Amino acid sequence: MQTFSIVIHGGAGTLVKGLMTKKLEAEYKEALKVAREAGFDVLKNGGSSIDAVETSVKLLENSPLFNAGKGSVFTAEGTHEMDAAIMEGKHLEAGAVSLVTGIKNPVSLARDVMEKSYHVFLAGEGAMKFAKEQNYTLENSDYFYDEVRYKQWQGIKDSDSFQLDHSVKKDGKFGTVGAVACDQNGNIAAATSTGGMTNKKWGRVGDSPMIGVGNYANNKTCAVSCTGSGEFFIRGVVAYDVSCLMEYKGLSLEDAANEVINKRILEIKGDGGLIGVDAKGHITMPFNTEGMYRAYKTSEGKEDILIYK
Ligand code: ASP
Repeated sequence: MQTFSIVIHGGAGTLVKGLMTKKLEAEYKEALKVAREAGFDVLKNGGSSIDAVETSVKLLENSPLFNAGKGSVFTAEGTHEMDAAIMEGKHLEAGAVSLVTGIKNPVSLARDVMEKSYHVFLAGEGAMKFAKEQNYTLENSDYFYDEVRYKQWQGIKDSDSFQLDHSVKKDGKFGTVGAVACDQNGNIAAATSTGGMTNKKWGRVGDSPMIGVGNYANNKTCAVSCTGSGEFFIRGVVAYDVSCLMEYKGLSLEDAANEVINKRILEIKGDGGLIGVDAKGHITMPFNTEGMYRAYKTSEGKEDILIYK
């Protein structure tokens, strides 16, 4: 029988045990649980992997805890510019948006690009025009306001530096969200959404919306969603590299993902992690940082919600 499964992440980084309050830890775990269960229910009811990953990512976007949607970090201009991508592995259909503002669920806009336009990737003003044509209502800046993130930005706003999402150590934690799933038909899909980096400017785009970099799905190999310092992940073409190792070298999902996260991307000093599934429902969740918010559930009854190594 076909195994179906889902894995989600809420970012990787210097998540050191004991440094987070028990209360906050419980809040993160609860948010991960809600998102995982909603996605898993879609699969259990015979729904598609693309619906499952969109469902989970939307819930993570709606939580202020993660750097995506509602919880997106501040740019150098004090705004929120979000990136998202979605892909399905049967026909290699994909959609992505970058530098969008005021959109509550960028992952759904990415899906609309995939299904309702001839294009794959829309950015900035053009993506916003497309959203308006699709009748998206825009949230005002109050919706995205978060005191913690505002303070992070105030701390570096007058400098040239930009920073990954808040952490105990500066530059230590990434709060991008993502989901990968394998459904009862053995079709796989991946979705990723992010607010990018605090104080980013010049239209900076990270790995998350780039097909084959922060997000990729192909039934022949794997579905992958990444989190980490986008610049390194772009240079490492991470998600597609995992797929290539499986397709051309015959590596298993787990070995391919490990090779990329714990060797190849480390060689260029890239920090972060990824989640992956294959069309048999196998899962993997490697990261080379101290922690990664993650949760998984399979039809074989395996499940967990984890933060640390
Ligand atoms: N990969 C994201 C970016 O560089 C950041 C993250 O994973 O939190 O935009």
